[in-house]
Amino acid sequence: MRRLLPAVTTALAVLVAVVGTGTIAFNPVDKVREFDPNHALNFARQVCKLGPRYGGNDAELKAANMMERELKKYGLNVWKEKVDLGGGKCTYNVIGEIKGTREPNKYVIVGSHIDSPGFCEGATDDAAAMGIQVEMARVLAKNFRPRKTVLIIGFGGEELWFKGSEAFVKKHPDIVKNCEAVIDLNCVGAGENVFLTRRSAQPKPVEGDPKLIRLLEQCARELGHPVTVGDTTYPSDTYPFYHNHIRRVPVCQVMNQPFKVAPWSRSNTADKLDPKDMEKTGETVTLAVVKLTNAEPAAKPLWEEQRERQRAQQRGWFTPVWWAIALAAPLLAIAGRRGRAR
Ligand SMILES: [Zn+2]
Repeated sequence: MRRLLPAVTTALAVLVAVVGTGTIAFNPVDKVREFDPNHALNFARQVCKLGPRYGGNDAELKAANMMERELKKYGLNVWKEKVDLGGGKCTYNVIGEIKGTREPNKYVIVGSHIDSPGFCEGATDDAAAMGIQVEMARVLAKNFRPRKTVLIIGFGGEELWFKGSEAFVKKHPDIVKNCEAVIDLNCVGAGENVFLTRRSAQPKPVEGDPKLIRLLEQCARELGHPVTVGDTTYPSDTYPFYHNHIRRVPVCQVMNQPFKVAPWSRSNTADKLDPKDMEKTGETVTLAVVKLTNAEPAAKPLWEEQRERQRAQQRGWFTPVWWAIALAAPLLAIAGRRGRAR
């Protein structure tokens, strides 16, 4: 018995730890693996069907509305912000927010761009990124409660030298000041490796944040996805977050490389997208967001919570009206009878 005592004590201690913290049973990797690449792919295909999305044309605005609708389904707070493109034209940034439970004034941003090169449907540039974002939103909303605020943003006018992200940075200095990471998805969905950008050159150099790159690399390895780090030409929407008058935000542009199709080409069509590649990037970035925001497990999906809140609000509004009717009806009946008696 005396020999058994230490073993029993240890077992009890472990039991207390598991029950007490509830953390040992929570494995974020399992939850992140619920990422459904077919949902991401289908959304990207729908975006491609709109044709080239450029310069605030009809297709770009429709794609923005599609993203807004899809993000709303998962209980995020979603809104659009107008972006002036000059020459009487405009486009929109679409912003989906999961508010942080503990530190709502700290931010982690996952970006993509809604527009495409003017001459092609831009399957990898950047419809696939939008597909990854909406599926990531679903997985996060279903399984996680980030302690810091997550913003999932589709920027307009990226091909016009990052117009949407530039407008966002100007409009939200408070977010820029308190943003701990910008992970920008650009040229994804058809390339063997998750590619993390260390440096881009044009129009001015942008350095990927070494700590953020390391974290993304770790996440990919943990999930068993191939990952490489390298340099590229353009920084996409990381640029205004890196070069601005407020603060240099830690950034990393994430791609799939080597490209199975050239981003700026007419053959960059939806049939080139590979759900496996979308899954690699989607899961890697989702896990990184979970870690960056110290996310906790969710008791129920965000969209259910939202529906319950709405129902409670409706009840709150409905109850006084109902009571007013219930009280007024007999009074009106009495008044009516008196009127007739006279
Ligand atoms: Zn792009």
